[in-house]
Amino acid sequence: MLDTITEKLNLKNGESNLIKKAYDFALSAHKDQKRAGGEPYFNHVCAVAQTVSELKLDVKAIAAAFLHDSVEDTPVTLKDIKNEFGEEIAFLVEGLTKLDKIKYNQDAWQIENLRKMFLSMAQDIRVVIIKLADRLHNMSTLKEMPPEAQTRIAKETMEIYAPIADRLGMNEIKGQLEDLCFNFLYSDQLKWLKDQIQDQVEGREIYLNKVKPVILQELEKEKIKILEIQSRVKKYWSLWQKLIRYEMNWDKIHDLVALRLIVPTISDCYGALGVIHKLWRPLVGRIKDFIALPKPNGYQSLHTTVFCLDGIVTEIQIRTPQMHESAENGIAAHWAWEAAGKPLAGFQMKDRKLYWIKQLREWHKSARDSKEFLENLKIDFFKKRVFVFTPIGDVVDLPENATPIDFAYHIHTDLGDHCVGAKINGKLLGLDAVLHNGDVVEILTQKNKKPSQDWLSFVKTNQAKSHIKKSLGFITKITNKIRPQEKIFHLEIKVKDRVGMLRDITNSFVKFKINLSTVRTDRGKQPTIIINFSLKPKQKTEELLKELKKINGVLDLKQIELS
Ligand code: MN
Repeated sequence: MLDTITEKLNLKNGESNLIKKAYDFALSAHKDQKRAGGEPYFNHVCAVAQTVSELKLDVKAIAAAFLHDSVEDTPVTLKDIKNEFGEEIAFLVEGLTKLDKIKYNQDAWQIENLRKMFLSMAQDIRVVIIKLADRLHNMSTLKEMPPEAQTRIAKETMEIYAPIADRLGMNEIKGQLEDLCFNFLYSDQLKWLKDQIQDQVEGREIYLNKVKPVILQELEKEKIKILEIQSRVKKYWSLWQKLIRYEMNWDKIHDLVALRLIVPTISDCYGALGVIHKLWRPLVGRIKDFIALPKPNGYQSLHTTVFCLDGIVTEIQIRTPQMHESAENGIAAHWAWEAAGKPLAGFQMKDRKLYWIKQLREWHKSARDSKEFLENLKIDFFKKRVFVFTPIGDVVDLPENATPIDFAYHIHTDLGDHCVGAKINGKLLGLDAVLHNGDVVEILTQKNKKPSQDWLSFVKTNQAKSHIKKSLGFITKITNKIRPQEKIFHLEIKVKDRVGMLRDITNSFVKFKINLSTVRTDRGKQPTIIINFSLKPKQKTEELLKELKKINGVLDLKQIELS
């Protein structure tokens, strides 16, 4: 087992001795322990060390991965670790042991532990990465746990760990965690989704195998070297989220299976994009240059969607090997490059690390009560971003639909507090105007001006909200007013096609005062009416379903709760 962990590392003598020592130490510490499923506990720490090694963290982190459960679960003490392995490894193990105490449920004292977790994150990023590797293995063996524990752990993973992986740009681990949770939290929905895409995925892969040689040939003509061409299948949870966003409209999903090109340099990326656009016409508004404008978590790539062979709409992603590694492993990749003394040009590790730490500290500080803290966490993680410019050309990233007030508070508290107007691309616009990618924003201020309560109705960032509330002096009143969420449902009704069928069905919704959001008719072999609708908190679907079943010609109903 040790060989598979060390085989891809270029270890010096002392380093492989250190790993061997940690391996032996953990083996003897856990020797009689078994996991819930009956396998040796030692297998777990090996799996974690394996992931940490694949992420190319240093040998101290790999050693800490081997040792991460020995203080918690065996008679070994932190002092023993310090004596055997020194300060730094003991420090990492201590951090991991602390994180182990975090048990998620939404009580206040739990949240306090969550905060500690984040602070420890700010202290050493390796602790967080090892913890994510630990959680990944625990999730992959979760079926061995009792059902109650499965739900609790999956929820905690979905709400805390996956978002952290996301924020750190560790997309591969994030995606794996989410798909594992999906199975435990919404197994019916996952089954439905898998049924829907099985044939599609197969068909797409056969199709892309025809596309690949065409691209390769054309790139060769233009003398652009290609290191790898792969088709990647979208992860289930991410696909599911996208489907919900587009109200289950499959026509909007162009990247179920996308083509990915890895080329040596940035100029090859743009070169390859040109070649592809010469071959096939791109869809308007679907060319995304995340190389010039990286996502806030550092993600870089070119994306385009083209009318490909036979006019089939296809998404193509182009990137360099460094961008690829960074996209999959995020901060872990940058940490590894930094440690190896070759940071990626143009990517300032220090600044970025500081940015993350600043962000985390900000959350910690602004958390007036535990609920708000958790809300902040959940909300900011999932929002999409928009990039705008200051008058001197600095890029500012903000959440989707952000306004000039959000922009102002992002730059400086005083700018926000004294804001009276905004020029967007030179034009005077309202403070509630929605900012778009590439807008140049200039804030006009007046010394005596104070924030207005109205602003709270349209600002998007938590930063702006908390500053405005602070200025107005009523932080607690507002937080109690969070409106209960409406629930969204998806309903498929198999019917005999007849005149008036759709009218009869929609009338039932009207009768129960239920809001329809979309209605689609699928006139395939088995005519189906597909409806998405939302329920207010006190509404239920039982009566509606009974009524629908009574309608002449309704054969079968299938309902899924989407949120
Ligand atoms: Mn563990």
